[in-house]
Amino acid sequence: MTAVLRNGRLVTPDGVQEGDISYRDGVIEGIGTGLAGRTVADVEGAWVLPGAVDPHLHISLGGHSITEPLLHDLHQAARAALRGGVTTIGVYAQRTPATTVAESIGTEIGRERDGVAADYFINALLMPGDDIEGTVARSSQVGVISFKTMVAYASRGLMLDDASICLLMERAAAVGGVTLVHAENGGAIDYLDAVERNRGVTNASYLRSQPVDLEPEGMNRTAMFAALTGCRLHFVHCTSAPGAAMLGTLKSSGASVTAETQIHYLLLTNDEVLQRGPLGKVGPPLRDADHLPQLWEALADGRIDHLSSDHSPKSLEVKLAAANILDATFGGIAGTGVMLPLAFSEGFKKGRLTIERVAEVTSTRAAQIYGIYPQKGVLAEGSDADLVVIPEGQPEVRLTHDNLATEAGYSLYESIVTSGMPSLVIRGGSVVISDGQLVGPENGRYLARSRQA
Ligand SMILES: [Zn+2]
Repeated sequence: MTAVLRNGRLVTPDGVQEGDISYRDGVIEGIGTGLAGRTVADVEGAWVLPGAVDPHLHISLGGHSITEPLLHDLHQAARAALRGGVTTIGVYAQRTPATTVAESIGTEIGRERDGVAADYFINALLMPGDDIEGTVARSSQVGVISFKTMVAYASRGLMLDDASICLLMERAAAVGGVTLVHAENGGAIDYLDAVERNRGVTNASYLRSQPVDLEPEGMNRTAMFAALTGCRLHFVHCTSAPGAAMLGTLKSSGASVTAETQIHYLLLTNDEVLQRGPLGKVGPPLRDADHLPQLWEALADGRIDHLSSDHSPKSLEVKLAAANILDATFGGIAGTGVMLPLAFSEGFKKGRLTIERVAEVTSTRAAQIYGIYPQKGVLAEGSDADLVVIPEGQPEVRLTHDNLATEAGYSLYESIVTSGMPSLVIRGGSVVISDGQLVGPENGRYLARSRQA
């Protein structure tokens, strides 16, 4: 039977339309006024956005992670995402001591049977020693066509050399996929890290070991490899004004590049690192306050395509375990649940993004780049009925570790408030969040992707 959400401000590709949206069997059927069907809710002028797509989450794979232990596996990450209106997540699978990349992917696809709160797809993460050709071939057969590589962290054993990156891009292009790159200059980071250790490590050492100019260098170099191999290239972080400027240059020259940034680079500064040490450590580092307005501008004008979270919650114990900040773990952001709420309150409500752009940067562009559009990413007939309702004038909520429910024991966002938490979320035609509470069902699906143009 057709179900209808009534009297919303629907954020569609044609602009905001006031009216109803109906769906049946998990798929959007119509957008208009006075639509026939069973009323699910009268949302009384609240914003209705396409379910958010967060393509960048790190999860624990059978207890294993890239380096230090993570708090969330696929099931926990999906619940954290859904709270913030993310109905589709993209998670990384990499090799573990027990499995190859392809085996990790197979295991995570199988978790669909145990019940997952969000729809999900998988990105393959390749590290030195992985069989590049075999991994791309096997992954693409099961719907994985996005392949991540690090061009930093050589001393930690994570960086692929340039020849391997080119080979990965060539293979990814051959299956119609995209290469995802963490772009910095890894060799320079290792050199600067050693310099800092010799002079005595303080919290500022971390910032000096990964300066902003290494980012555009990594972008420019890997964009050249992408051109040589005919591969689509997507940067998984743009964290700085020079990075955003490089994206402008590359895009205006016709390079096949796109980029995401994380909400923490738009709202938090390197003061977190200077004051809180390892708790403020994310990779690449948080930057000077000067960069933030320029990143918002790049997100608004399309040089940066979309937002993601780099969700990777770690316990306080793990974050504080090392003797100094250079040895401390990188990841640790618990951010998937705040991406859309903060894009709404800090982006739209503060006049930095239009509401249409909020829909693009939290949903549409990621769906397009990662190959799940128009099934995901848009309010349109025939797309999945993934709908997020954010009322106007909600009370502001402080983003502490308690209300983010990450089990991390701390939050990088606790100085920030938001009025953008979704009140109602529908995924695949099922109400999954009501009055801000998870109400299930956990019947999310694995999204196998096929060759992109
Ligand atoms: Zn990441």
